[in-house]
Amino acid sequence: MRFVNPEQLKHMLCNYVVANGYQLCYKKNDSRRLLVKCCSGACKFRLWASRTSEEKAFQIKSLINEHNCARNFKLGSIVNYAWIGTHYTTQFLQKQKVSVRLLRDEVKEKFRIDISMGQCRRAKKYAIELIEVTLVDHYAKLWSYDEEIRRSNPGSTVKINVNAMPDENKANWKWFLENLKDDLHLEDGFSISLMSDQHKGLLEAVKEVLTIAKHRQCARHIVANFRKRFSGVHYETMFWKASKASTEPLFNAAMKEIQVLNHVAYDYLVETNPKSWSRAFFQEGNMCDAGKMDYLRALIVSSGMQGKSQSSPC
Ligand SMILES: [Zn+2]
Repeated sequence: MRFVNPEQLKHMLCNYVVANGYQLCYKKNDSRRLLVKCCSGACKFRLWASRTSEEKAFQIKSLINEHNCARNFKLGSIVNYAWIGTHYTTQFLQKQKVSVRLLRDEVKEKFRIDISMGQCRRAKKYAIELIEVTLVDHYAKLWSYDEEIRRSNPGSTVKINVNAMPDENKANWKWFLENLKDDLHLEDGFSISLMSDQHKGLLEAVKEVLTIAKHRQCARHIVANFRKRFSGVHYETMFWKASKASTEPLFNAAMKEIQVLNHVAYDYLVETNPKSWSRAFFQEGNMCDAGKMDYLRALIVSSGMQGKSQSSPC
């Protein structure tokens, strides 16, 4: 069995220890070799792993997977804060404010392990560091991807899926947009036309950070939410009529039809800021006419919308 590095194998060993309740100890533990035995000493279990000859992988060379020791849920030293932290990154990603005490209770309940508050604090720190590395890495990829697109094809749409945002609140969106603004030299958003889903924090952050960006919302996201509240094919047809209207009078006529049908639906659409989703208000004409426009379009889709209606702008 091969692993990318000793850390990957050690992580698997922690899983094994926690799942089975054995106390394993490292007898040799460096970047080239790993010898693992049961801490009790008299037990048969023995795992020997080392780097492969071509140095690219770490491999289990021999394994005696038999125990004659008693199972023990005091798990020795190999289950450490890094293992715990790795298991909780998703939770911290969604909610950074999980308390250390709550983490300890959860670990105890889920894995039957008693860990100290100190280990919990280190596990939390480790999980948050992992998230930050992921975010920075994710952001670096966005940056190089965008540079390449802009270099090779000015005027194209850059689609940005933000799926590693801990707590998608306004402060985090501001942080994200400020980085985007600095790296891409967007100034106040003069050369940017931004499309996004309807995440409230994102809408507010755009207003503050990219004050003069043309902010558009994807009509398909709007209609997906509209459909949830007002069912019936009429609503959708009329919505598209308003969205695709090429002039303001045509837009007003379409909205009037919706108002006559149901004034609550009309009020709902007015609340969504039609100027951001109706073509009647897009000065440069057809949204899909890419290539002619020499500005960046960024389509920002937050994780909240992932998998629901992740459509392209056109
Ligand atoms: Zn054993």
